[in-house]
Amino acid sequence: MTSELPTPPPHTAGPDLRGRTALVTGAGSGIGRACAAHLARAGATVHVVDVDAGSATAVAQAIGGLPHIADLADPAALDTLPAAVDILVNNAGLQHVAPLTAFPPERFALIQQVMVTAPFLLMRRTLPHMYASGWGRVINISSVHGRRASAFKCAYVAAKHALEGLSKVAAVEGAPHGVTSNCVSPGYVRTPLVEDQVRAQAAAHGITADAVLDDVLLARSPLGRLLEPDEVAAAVVWLCGPAAGGINGASIALDGGWTAT
Ligand code: NAD
Repeated sequence: MTSELPTPPPHTAGPDLRGRTALVTGAGSGIGRACAAHLARAGATVHVVDVDAGSATAVAQAIGGLPHIADLADPAALDTLPAAVDILVNNAGLQHVAPLTAFPPERFALIQQVMVTAPFLLMRRTLPHMYASGWGRVINISSVHGRRASAFKCAYVAAKHALEGLSKVAAVEGAPHGVTSNCVSPGYVRTPLVEDQVRAQAAAHGITADAVLDDVLLARSPLGRLLEPDEVAAAVVWLCGPAAGGINGASIALDGGWTAT
């Protein structure tokens, strides 16, 4: 008797996103830049959004995308961005480190504006197109700090927890329209945002950058290394593919096991 085994589909490098349009915020640097590059490589037309004109233009040029200079803290600037988008990657973010009792209220407000209100306004702007076409992907770059707290990061931790909640509401409302919404929640990733924190902490504590990495940033990561922006971008592209069509309202930890401890 011959046993009939299912034939696996031929291996492909990843989802085919030709014909899809993506918008990535904070795409001029770090994780956003990697997401923009991976989405473009998968065939998507990519809108590269950043407040930094030079980096938005350079990334768009490098990947064949379209640059948009916009400050996400300014709701009027969001109205200039395209609404006909199939894949929205809410990535732009910033950090401020200070004890809660000394935390500048205007920095707190700015962080909520860029990392919570702007994602909300961009979802509000782009979901009607996704609903009309019956397909869409919202991917929110959250953090371990969307699931855990660290001292001195009240604005960032509050914003990432809010983004996780916003993403779940988009997931529940979007599902009947073929739209999923998920968070990708990394631990520390090798980007300028983290390199700045390493330098600041080394100076503040009078220790070396390596000591900051090993004893502070990576102390809670069983994997014990920084993640690379490409690893985050690969998860984002995978979420756009058919294999991930049933994943909705999830928060995918990419943290080397931090939140497992
Ligand atoms: P990054 O500093 O390298 O890049 C952030 C980009 O966002 C920059 O190009 C910056 O110009 C842009 N940006 C900042 N404020 C903006 C504004 N008001 N309007 C438009 N663009 C703005 O940072 P990154 O490490 O790549 O972080 C990207 C995202 O990933 C953030 O949401 C961050 O919280 C998240 N994240 C980062 C890490 C990490 O370890 N690097 C870990 C977890 C989550």
